[in-house]
Amino acid sequence: MMGTIVTFTVIDADKAQAAAAVRDAADTMQRLADALTIYGTHANSVKDFNASPPGSAVRLGPDAEKVLDTSMTVFRQSHGAFDPALGALDILWGFSIQPPPTAPPSAQAIKRAMANAHCLSHTANGWIRGSAACQLDFGGIAKGYIVDQGIRVLQRHGIRNAIINAGGNLRVLGSHGKRAWHIGIKHPRRSGSILGAIDLKDGESISTSGDYEHFFIYKGKRYHHILNPQTGWPSRGVQSATIVAPTGILSDAWSTALFVLGPAGLPLVARFGMDGLIVDAQGHLHMTPGMRKRFQPVSS
Ligand code: ADP
Ligand code: MG
Repeated sequence: MMGTIVTFTVIDADKAQAAAAVRDAADTMQRLADALTIYGTHANSVKDFNASPPGSAVRLGPDAEKVLDTSMTVFRQSHGAFDPALGALDILWGFSIQPPPTAPPSAQAIKRAMANAHCLSHTANGWIRGSAACQLDFGGIAKGYIVDQGIRVLQRHGIRNAIINAGGNLRVLGSHGKRAWHIGIKHPRRSGSILGAIDLKDGESISTSGDYEHFFIYKGKRYHHILNPQTGWPSRGVQSATIVAPTGILSDAWSTALFVLGPAGLPLVARFGMDGLIVDAQGHLHMTPGMRKRFQPVSS
């Protein structure tokens, strides 16, 4: 689902109850994925918006509306590091399209696909895009929102202790018996290894954005799917950025934002009440004070 593997962990429920809850959550999540993606053949309001004449107001579906609302808040709070209007650029780079790219687009094509940073506007009749290049892409936030909605479905089924993990966007419910849920953070360069782990409280979410899942090497240089909105090119200086937040939508959006901001973004993350961790290009770790208290490094 959503171009990744979604894992459900449910404990302290009988098998039939757990199976029904997971099936229901997965159905909801697939429906939301179809409503929010700009890829595939499924029609939705986000694709309609991206094809609408610039300057005319378009009504988004209820979920797209909510996701765009939070996107705009994170856009402002991150000083534009998280930008939901990079759709044309994302399609041009092609990391979400099969087969994956093997070389960067031309500098000229990148310039053409870049919209003004404030190209989206809201009116009583809906959202307006300011130019043809101004296209929505919720690739950096939708998974977190969808995990949140999956968790709600599990709760409605009476599930109290569970994890939903959508390819690095994870949220927990309750605990693992008497102990907190203990979650590993991937090592960005040693596949199959973790950097460390962290205990999550009931309802907390953790997301990691990295340069190691969707990338290619061209002339000895790594190109990946997290773009610097100011340049249109992959954001440099960070291998991975991890956020712990009260909801999936926030940890997802902010892990993308923090990846672009780099270590200088950590005070911002702390100010908004979240914990953050960065692995920089040299492999050094940077953390918010809150993360430093809870991060448990693996002894290597
Ligand atoms: P993943 O999708 O691997 O979990 P992210 O949450 O960091 O990782 O999302 C990366 C996706 O977000 C890209 O594939 C693209 O769709 C979108 N994106 C890339 N750069 C930005 C950015 N600066 N702001 C918002 N969205 C972005
Ligand atoms: Mg993200």
